[in-house]
Amino acid sequence: MYTIGIESTAHTFGVGILKDDEVMASERDTYRPKSGGIIPREAAAHHYRTASDMVSRALKKAGISLADIDLVAFSQGPGILSCLRVGSAAAKFIGKKTGKKVVGVNHCIAHLEIARKTTGLADPVMLYVSGGNTQIITYSDGRYIVFGETQDIGVGNLIDKVGRQLSIPFPAGPKIEELAAKGKRYIKLPYSLKGMDVSFSGIETFVSRLQKPFSVEDACYSLQETVFAMLIEASERAMAYCKKDSLVITGGVAANSRLNEMGKIMCSERGAKFDIVPKEFTGDNGAMIAYAGYLMRDYKQSDLALRQRFRTDTVEIAYR
Ligand code: AMP
Ligand code: MG
Repeated sequence: MYTIGIESTAHTFGVGILKDDEVMASERDTYRPKSGGIIPREAAAHHYRTASDMVSRALKKAGISLADIDLVAFSQGPGILSCLRVGSAAAKFIGKKTGKKVVGVNHCIAHLEIARKTTGLADPVMLYVSGGNTQIITYSDGRYIVFGETQDIGVGNLIDKVGRQLSIPFPAGPKIEELAAKGKRYIKLPYSLKGMDVSFSGIETFVSRLQKPFSVEDACYSLQETVFAMLIEASERAMAYCKKDSLVITGGVAANSRLNEMGKIMCSERGAKFDIVPKEFTGDNGAMIAYAGYLMRDYKQSDLALRQRFRTDTVEIAYR
């Protein structure tokens, strides 16, 4: 059985193809604004431009044609409406052409499921960290329960905003990681963790008011050490509370080696398991959407309407 998955919630247009549950192809292209953050109209225009090329490339890589597709999945939300529209239009077009079922999937759940699949950890606490989202999640009784989350912006968004202050273009994560590795002096930043909830906007303001001279490397180092410590502490609380003995980190920020290192240290101190999600599946990609669609293949969906604010904990997980 072949499943095609289409991702278009924000900056990335991605197409993945699965043969049963095995990833055969995952092609993607990311919109990069000339300056500042994502401009929804421009991101959607980028997706329209690259959509058909991404579909062709993924089919070619998987060695199949459109006629071989058995199931079509797309990101129904959460995300930017103008961007979501492109993926949904592409999915419905493929559905019509092939006459096959189209399923809408929750983008966050796709990040969680690809993490479980690639690490082989069946029932972990999941730290989901991306541009727009930051949540600490575990599974219980047919749903993913959110134990802690950001009270304002996502951690990736914070990293990108601080990047802008330091003249690092979007997405700033990889460059900040590189600079942070050269930092030596810790600048004390606000540590805002309450229970299992975190907040980041105060840190952004604090960094914007830092008096020069300070080195960019030290600022990046301090940013990473502070926010990652908050996230790992919150994850540890969730693990203790839920009595779960493993952790995975998923979403775009999970590409960061320092964050993974902190997760690994915390887990080894608790005697818990930890495994890293491969980089090609941390950021937004079509393969994870195809996989979530594959898991949901027998679901009856009431509608395929786009949902800009589609919460992880509202989805019934009948396949577990
Ligand atoms: P996503 O929306 O899941 O694709 O995640 C995108 C976010 O991940 C952006 O905010 C990026 O800056 C961030 N990101 C990507 N790579 C890294 C990295 N190595 N370290 C920290 N953040 C990263
Ligand atoms: Mg994402």
